[in-house]
Formats: sequence, structure tokens, C-alpha cells
Amino acid sequence: MLSWGVADVELLCERCGLCCDGTLYRRTPLAPGEVEALRSLGADPGGLDAAGAPRGPGLPQPCAALEGTLCVIYAARPARCRRYACLLRRALGEGELDLAEALGVVADARARAAARAPDLERFLDQRFRGHAGPLAAGPPEVPGA
Ligand code: SF4
Ligand code: SF4
Repeated sequence: MLSWGVADVELLCERCGLCCDGTLYRRTPLAPGEVEALRSLGADPGGLDAAGAPRGPGLPQPCAALEGTLCVIYAARPARCRRYACLLRRALGEGELDLAEALGVVADARARAAARAPDLERFLDQRFRGHAGPLAAGPPEVPGA
């Protein structure tokens, strides 16, 4: 359970967006009904067939609702997005590092991604994804996050 530092963890995510921009995951799983809800909000989930049914198992990333590092449908984001907290967010919430250090990890990840660093995936696993690897279908559920 995240016991404190709510403002800091929210600030971290507002300045990060790595779990929405395709760096960590390829898509975000959607619950039944969420595709239409996203379209009505102007965030085309993409990947739809001619009948409007989703082709794949989730919202493709980079997410259509992401502007910069911010989710423009935050209040109405899918359930999976609401439940997700990466290792870094949890570590910040538990006081294992402070906000400046956490933002440094995000900057480090971005730099490695931009440089296509050979250790990028290992770094992302260790600092963000945990057991979920780069081919994960989307942000895993994190009980209590
Ligand atoms: S949950 Fe993690 S990867 Fe997603 S925006 Fe927050 S800090 Fe970044
Ligand atoms: S809906 Fe919002 S929180 Fe969910 S993947 Fe897209 S940008 Fe991220």
C-alpha cells in the first residue's frame, strides 16, 4: 500500500509517461466497453476493424490519449491504467528514494532509449517493469497500487 507521498508520486507520473508512450509496453489491455468510452472522449484507441471492433487485445502505445507526458483523459482513463504502478512509482511511494532521484531514473531511461542502449530492456525491467518483460501486453495489475 502506498502510505504517503501521494503528491510526489503523482508528480513523478506527470513528468514520466514511460508506461504510456511505448517505452515500457506495446499496448494497454482494455475492459469491455472501454473502447467506445475512449472514442467518445476523442482518444481513438486505434486497431479497430471496419465494424469498429478492436483488432487487438488493447490500446496501442504510444497511447492516443498521451500529450507529452500527460494523459488528457486522466479522470476517465481505463481501469488498467488506474491500477498500474511501476516499480519506480512504488519505490518513491515507499520512501526508498526521493522525487529528484526518481526523476533522475526517468531521465536515465529516456537517455538509454534515445541512444538505443544495449542494456535498455534490462534497465527497464529492473527499474520499472519488474517481472513483466518487454513483450508484456500492457501494464500489469499491481494489487494495492
Ligand atoms: S507508473 Fe511508472 S512508468 Fe508510469 S508514468 Fe508513473 S513513474 Fe512513469
Ligand atoms: S489512457 Fe492515459 S493512462 Fe492509459 S495508457 Fe493512455 S495515456 Fe496512459
